Amino acid sequence: MSVVIYPGSFDPFTSGHTRVVRRACRVFDKVVIAVAEMSYKEAMFSLDERIAFARDAVSGLEKCEIIAYNTLTVELARKHNAAAILRGLRAVSDYEYEAQVAAANKHLDDSIETVFMMADPDLAFVSSSAVKQIAAAGGRITGLVSPMVEKAILARYFPGV
Ligand code: ADP
Repeated sequence: MSVVIYPGSFDPFTSGHTRVVRRACRVFDKVVIAVAEMSYKEAMFSLDERIAFARDAVSGLEKCEIIAYNTLTVELARKHNAAAILRGLRAVSDYEYEAQVAAANKHLDDSIETVFMMADPDLAFVSSSAVKQIAAAGGRITGLVSPMVEKAILARYFPGV
């Protein structure tokens, strides 16, 4: 059985993430979405909220599992018998960071591959931070995130509206 780990902060889960997971389900037998606890980075949403958003977004996909993690990604991959770590690439700007992380993971465990999925062009501009910036400035984020996430973001920026 081919298992892949899809790690991220998912703060929050976007339609870009959902698309990557859908596509990965066509390639792998099981996709483990690993939501980072992130003690080092300030998140807008709590771990529980970020997990709930991911769960809602992929609810129809049977091959998916969602977990929280605060360990090394390679350790997590070993624990779940995953042969690979999945990451998305949107622009050239993603490449430098992702190449460095992939090299570090290779150094830590040579048996685990990192596989990259190119963003679909229609969602290549979507990132968690872009969605938050658009919403904060009063822009429309419908379709860029699930209705559940859209509601949660708007409630954060415009409470009581
Ligand atoms: P991190 O904080 O670990 O970078 P993110 O939650 O921002 O995690 O993203 C998780 C993964 O999903 C990353 O590999 C990122 O490049 C990828 N990703 C994010 N948005 C998109 C998108 N629109 N299309 C394809 N991949 C994406």
